Amino acid sequence: HTQALIIGAGIAGIAASIRLALKGYSVIVFEANTYPGGKLSEIHLGEYRFDAGPSLFTLPEQVDELFRLAGKNPEDYFEYEKLEVACNYFWEDGTTLKAYSDLNHFAEEVQTKLGEPASNIREALLKSAFIYDSLAPLFMNRSLHKISTWTNSQAMKSYLKMRKLGIFSTMNEANRKQFSHPKLVQLFNRYATYNGSNPFETPATLNIIPHLEFNIGAFFPKKGMHDITMSLFKLSEELGVNYHFGQKVEKVLVEGGKAIGIRVKDKDFHADLVTNNMDMVNAYKTILKEEKQPKLLLSQPKSSSALIFYWGIKREFQELDLHNILFSDNYPLEFEHIFKRGTIYEDPTIYLNITSTHKSDDAPGGCMNWFTMINVPNNQGQDWDKMIAEAKRNIIHKLNRILKTDLEALIEVEEILDPRSIESKTSSAQGALYGNSSNNKFAAFLRHANYSSSIKNLYFCGGSVHPGGGIPLCLLSAKIMSEMIDG
Ligand code: FAD
Repeated sequence: HTQALIIGAGIAGIAASIRLALKGYSVIVFEANTYPGGKLSEIHLGEYRFDAGPSLFTLPEQVDELFRLAGKNPEDYFEYEKLEVACNYFWEDGTTLKAYSDLNHFAEEVQTKLGEPASNIREALLKSAFIYDSLAPLFMNRSLHKISTWTNSQAMKSYLKMRKLGIFSTMNEANRKQFSHPKLVQLFNRYATYNGSNPFETPATLNIIPHLEFNIGAFFPKKGMHDITMSLFKLSEELGVNYHFGQKVEKVLVEGGKAIGIRVKDKDFHADLVTNNMDMVNAYKTILKEEKQPKLLLSQPKSSSALIFYWGIKREFQELDLHNILFSDNYPLEFEHIFKRGTIYEDPTIYLNITSTHKSDDAPGGCMNWFTMINVPNNQGQDWDKMIAEAKRNIIHKLNRILKTDLEALIEVEEILDPRSIESKTSSAQGALYGNSSNNKFAAFLRHANYSSSIKNLYFCGGSVHPGGGIPLCLLSAKIMSEMIDG
C-alpha cells in the first residue's frame, strides 16, 4: 500500500481521508484536538447539546456523494430533512417574515407584508440560479490553477457573461436595483455573511448564495450538524483510515523538493503523500515555516469571525424556529464596524440557531438551546473581554425588545466562543470563519491552490484553500485535491 498522511481532521480532512482510502492509499490522520471535526464539532452544557460552529446545511449531495462513492447507502449513515421555513426574520419595528422554502409561498409573504412585487423575488432567484449554473462548474468543481480550467468551453462561455454575473457591481448595488423595499435589500445582502464577507464591498457575483438556500434548499441533519462529522468519520474508519488524536504535527518533512512525511513530537512518519487540512496562514508559520512562502496569498484579508453565546434557556418561544435573524436597524454601519473599524456595532444583527425546535433531546422539556451569534471582526488584538461584555448587554437588550421578555432571568447555562478561542481550537488565522474574505473581485484567484507548486506530493484541502470556506466548499476542496492525485 502507498501511504498517505493527513494533517487535521476538519471536515475536509475527513473527506480527503475517505477519497484517498478509496483510491487504495493507506491513510493516517493526525489531529491536534482529541476529537474529529474541527469547527464542525459539538458541546454539551448540563442537559443541553449545541452544534459548536456551522448551523446551516446546504448542498447535502456533497455529503451523500462520499457514501455512494464507498458503495454505501447514504441513508444508512446520515439522515437529513429539507426545511419548510429556511429562516424567520425579525425587525425592531415589529415586522416579521418567514422565508418559506416554497418560492411562491415566500413571494406571496413578501408581497403581503412588504408590498414587494412577487415577480422581483422570482427574478432575483432566477438570476441567482444563472450565476450558479455559470460559475459552479468553473470555480467550485475544478482547480483554478490548471490551465485546462481556463481554456475549456464552459470557461469561454462564462467570459461572455461577465457583466450578467455581477462582477462589476457590489452585492448591495445589485440588490438595491432588484428590490424596492429596503428590508428585502437587507435580507438579500445578508447572504454575504455566509462566507464572512461585506455586502457593501463584495461583488454581486455572491448573489449566487440565495440559490443554494431557496432553489436547492436548506436542510437539517436529523441528529444535528455534528452528525455530518460523525457519520463521515465512521465511514472513514470503516474504510480503514487510522486516526491519531491529540497529535499536533510540527513539521512537514521535505527532501529534494518532495514531501516525504511529517514530524510529531520528535517522531517522524514517512509517506508517499502528505495532505494538509490546517489553515494555510498558520501552516506556513509552523509546519511549513522553512519552505518558500506565498506572501501575496497569505496576506489577503481574512473573513469576519463570530461571537457566540451558547445559552440554555428555561422557556420555549413559539415564534422562534431553527434559524432566526433579528436585524440591525443600520446595516451599513454594522458592516463598517466589522470590516473597517475592527469593532462591534452597538445594534448588531443577531442570529439564533435553536436545534431543539427540530431535535427535542437537545434541551430539557420546556427549554431551548440557543446558539446566539453575531458577526464580529476577526482578531487583530482587540480588547475582546471588554467588547464581549458590551456586546452581551446589547444583544440581551435587543432580544428583550423584540421578543418582549426578560432574558437574563432565563439563561440557565452559558459558554462563549470568540475569535480568540476559534483560533486556539482550530488554528484558523485570526479566528476567521471562512479563510480569506471575498470582499474583492479577485478573491477567488487569491486562495491557495489544492497542491504545492514547489513541493511535490504535498496537497491542501479545507476552508482556507480553493474553492473556499463553508462545509460544501470544504468538501469540494477534498474532491478537487484527490482528483489531482493519480492512483
Ligand atoms: P477546520 O474545521 O478548520 O479544522 C482544521 C483541523 O485541523 C482542526 O481540527 C485542527 O485542530 C486541526 N489542526 C490544525 N493544525 C494542526 C496541526 N498542526 N496538527 C494536527 N492537526 C491540526 N459553514 C457552513 O457551511 N455553514 C454554516 O452555517 C457555518 N457557520 C459557521 C459558524 C461558525 C461559528 C464557524 C466557526 C464556522 C462556520 N462555518 C459554516 C464554516 C465551516 O465551519 C468551515 O468552513 C469548515 O468547518 C472548515 O473545515 P476545514 O476542513 O477547513 O477544517
